[in-house]
Formats: sequence, C-alpha cells, structure tokens
Amino acid sequence: LAEYRSIRAALESQPRGTVSRIALSLYEDEAIVFLVRGREAGPRVWVQAALHGDEYDGIVACLQLIEQYAEKIGRGDLFLCPIANPTAFLAGTNPSPKDCVNMNRVFHPGLAGDSYSYRYGRRLLEEIASAADFFVDLHGGGKYLDVCPFAMIPVNEPEAYRKALQALKYVRLAGILERADDRTGLLIHALAARGIPAVLLESGGGQAATDPAVNRHLQSLLAVLTSLGMLKGEIGPESPAPESPAPCRFRSAVELRFEVTGLLRSHVPAGSKVKRGDVLLEITTYPEYGKHEVICEVEQGIVLSIHTASLVRRGDYAVMMGIIQDDSKGRDRK
Ligand SMILES: [Zn+2]
Repeated sequence: LAEYRSIRAALESQPRGTVSRIALSLYEDEAIVFLVRGREAGPRVWVQAALHGDEYDGIVACLQLIEQYAEKIGRGDLFLCPIANPTAFLAGTNPSPKDCVNMNRVFHPGLAGDSYSYRYGRRLLEEIASAADFFVDLHGGGKYLDVCPFAMIPVNEPEAYRKALQALKYVRLAGILERADDRTGLLIHALAARGIPAVLLESGGGQAATDPAVNRHLQSLLAVLTSLGMLKGEIGPESPAPESPAPCRFRSAVELRFEVTGLLRSHVPAGSKVKRGDVLLEITTYPEYGKHEVICEVEQGIVLSIHTASLVRRGDYAVMMGIIQDDSKGRDRK
C-alpha cells in the first residue's frame, strides 16, 4: 500500500482504483486511515470504529470491508479508520487511559474540557470535516453491555438529517433514535452542525467480536455505501425483504443506572420490547445478598442496550430504552 502522512497528500497523489494507508497525526498520537479510491469521483465517506476502545465488532467490520469490498467501490472515496481512539484500544478500555474521558462526549464547542480526549477529538473532528461529506461512526456495547442493532441520527440540521435517514433505507435496524443535540458532545452532532450527514450505528458488545454483530455492521455499511451510489449491486431495493418491518423511530430514550452493587442474575436481551412494570435486570446485592430489580418505568419501549457483565457496581450504566410513542410506527415525517 502507498503510504501518506496527510489526507490532502493522499487526495493529491493517490491514483483512482487504489487503496492507501494514511498515518494521521492527531495531537499526541497517530490514527491509521485507509483510503479506498473508487474509479470515478463521487461521495467522500468517512467510516470509523473504536472511538470507544473496547468496541470490537466495528473494527472487524471495517477490516472485512477493506479486505472483501475495496475493489467493488466504483465511485467516490472511502476513508476507513478502524481504530479511531488508538490509546483506548491498546488499553482495552472505553476511554483513553490518558484522561479517562468518554471520547464521544467531547465534541460540543460549549464544553469546557481541555484534557487529552478533547484535544485529540478536536483534531479528529477537523480531519473528518475537511475530508468527508458523509460520516458513519460504528459503536457497540463494549465490555459490560450488549446492544441491539440501532442507529442514532442528529435531527438539528434538516438537510443533514434527511440525507442520513435516506442513507439508512436499506439498513436493517431494530430502531432509529433521532436525537436533538443536547450538548452531550457526540461527534455526529458536531458534524451535522457543519452540514455533514452523520450516522452512529450500534451492534454487538462483550469482550470479543462475534460473527453476527460484525456481520450486522458490515451489512449496514454495504447498505449505506449502496444508497450513496458508491457500491454497485451488493444490496438493492429488493433487500431487506419487503416483509421485514420498518425500524421504530424514537425521539427519546431513557437511561437507567444501578443503585446497588452486586451480582447480575438475569437480564432481558437487547432488542426486547418491554412495558411498564417489566423486570429488566435482577441483581443479588452485596454484601446484603438481597434481591434487587431494575423495573421498566416507561409505558412501552425497546431495550437498546443493557448491562450483561456479572459484576454490577452502583452508578454503572444499566440499560437504555428507546421510548415508543403511539405514533412512532408508520409515521412519515416528510
Ligand atoms: Zn461506543
């Protein structure tokens, strides 16, 4: 592979129909980006994984995309960054050990932080914004959680929102969380604010990548690239099958944290449809050895992500549910 030190250098020199490796200098570290150039000019899409260092399914999906589909990119330029947060990946943790800040909470300009993840994140944001006109951020549950396949898209910029939703039309998902920018500092919001359609895709979780979760991410990427006209003939309007239900679209979600420490005894699977009063997780508390339950407090929801590791600590993230509104099915926002 040809090697470059910047995206500009690659775009100036790299011939169409080839793949290169770009070592991007980001603050104190380096992220590796592969650039797959289609034979014709077209959209510039940035796909990345492991902004959270312990989310492995997306990394493998990026590698499989390069290994199996690079030659099928007919139009446009695909920037693939399999490991967007290398120091976190090498530590095996969600955040970088340099400051232990969640890297997907640093991107709002109003946030005051100035530690490593904020500085690295600002550089990453500038690189993506200068290179791409569409963005996909692959995530998963990480060590402690499992997620069902769902997407988050920002709603603040109508044009970016419309394009992001359009690009998901062939993607099979349990739900789409349409998020207003609540200043939490997600990268998709920072990019949408600059007019770049941005999608966050969730799949998988646990200590190791698994074939079903990797494949779900890979199929989603192929579907997005097909919608954008970059990849011919892999996924078409006939797929998904006509009978597969349209994903629920959520405008809000609730997150619950554990109020106790102990051992997880049972949990509902990610993707479960739940209603008020359902037991979502059961814990044997320590040192009391008492019984504690986390109960669904919304009328109707879908479990988007849920804690699956045996050790439960007070304050840990327990579950996120997308709230089903009466009108969320079949609603057409056009
Ligand atoms: Zn993540």
